Amino acid sequence: MTFSLDIKDESTRASLGARASMPVKESLVGLTREEMAEALSGIGIPERQIKMRVQQLWHWLYVRGVSSFDDMFNISKDLRATLARHFNIARPEIVEEQISNDGTRKWLFRFPPRGAGRPVEIETVYIPEEGRGTLCISSQVGCTLTCSFCHTGTQKLVRNLTSEEILAQLLIARDRLGDFPERDTPDGAIVPAEGRKISNIVMMGMGEPLYNFEAVKKALLIASDGDGLSLSKRRITLSTSGVVPEILRTGEEIGVMLAISLHAPDDDLRDLLVPINKKYPLEQLMDACRKYPGLSNARRITFEYVMLKDVNDSLDHARALVNLLRGIPAKINLIPFNPWPGTNYQCSDWETIEKFADYINNAGYASPIRTPRGRDILAACGQLKSESERLKKHERLALEAMMIANHGEA
Ligand code: SAH
Ligand code: SF4
Repeated sequence: MTFSLDIKDESTRASLGARASMPVKESLVGLTREEMAEALSGIGIPERQIKMRVQQLWHWLYVRGVSSFDDMFNISKDLRATLARHFNIARPEIVEEQISNDGTRKWLFRFPPRGAGRPVEIETVYIPEEGRGTLCISSQVGCTLTCSFCHTGTQKLVRNLTSEEILAQLLIARDRLGDFPERDTPDGAIVPAEGRKISNIVMMGMGEPLYNFEAVKKALLIASDGDGLSLSKRRITLSTSGVVPEILRTGEEIGVMLAISLHAPDDDLRDLLVPINKKYPLEQLMDACRKYPGLSNARRITFEYVMLKDVNDSLDHARALVNLLRGIPAKINLIPFNPWPGTNYQCSDWETIEKFADYINNAGYASPIRTPRGRDILAACGQLKSESERLKKHERLALEAMMIANHGEA
């Protein structure tokens, strides 16, 4: 059963921190410590206080998860009022929250316009699993790339998300899942790392994270900051379609785990499926992977491989894949294709996927098949786009029918 919570009621919205109609003030969320210090200095906070104030704010924002200056009880009332006059720390608007019958959650968030643009909507998904919970975060609204099997790829890039907006997805998800201490008990216990619902994050939502490098870097460094949100970098995975020049920088400057959307073992096929391959062909991509800092058997690159019927799913493809990855500490994540209205691709048969997985396993690679999750709320990979919310009813029904035909009844 799908449980859908439409947050249209004003008081609920306000209590969730939504401030849709307020003018956009500079946000303190998503700033580095240095930028926050500059912002505070810019409103006249005395230099000798700045370091301490940054520390206080960092703790309130990222350890306690507050979204109103009023809750920062160890800061004087006057200073709180000054901060509130200049800065905004409110959460963006939650337009919709859906909870799947398998526990997967999907949120539709609305972010205010930047500059002359319009408000934008993006989706974030939470996937609970045995022993862990993963939040799938978006980095852009739409995507400039046009991978032929991806629904997001049919949507033009609207804009990059800011570091604040990337981080806001994690903050709101933690609010909603109870990963922050209770607001009304300001000295309430901090939820210990082992008890948190969100233990992992993946940059696998909408957009190509390496085409929004600076904002993604800032957000991930804050998410992994030990005095704040404290997610281990080994539990953060950034997925790229293969923006080669930024891959090494990802390792050196962000230091998170890497996933590559490979999907084909040779250039001819990859040019068709993942067109950025024409710019950065496999030889360059594999070279960048080999040089990724810190690789070992315990720290492998994940290669994502979407299973497309009669396109990339033969045992010859599996053989070529194993040859291609030789020498790279790798695991291969087989993703059953999620169909969408208008696509010409189909998902490979289950038997074919299993044979493919067996071949790769026998060659010594872990090759989990990603089980489709949250299908009843269209929370699957490659289907995250704000437009999925705007699908006409008959399109939505067609999509659901396609998914059931492909994977069997949920
Ligand atoms: N742009 C980045 C991250 C977002 S996509 C990237 O391409 O890596 C997250 C993963 O879902 C990618 O591996 C992508 O190729 C895959 N994907 C996209 N559309 C899909 C679909 N319809 N079915 C299954 N996987 C899909
Ligand atoms: Fe963009 Fe990734 Fe989709 Fe390709 S698979 S179109 S890079 S979101």
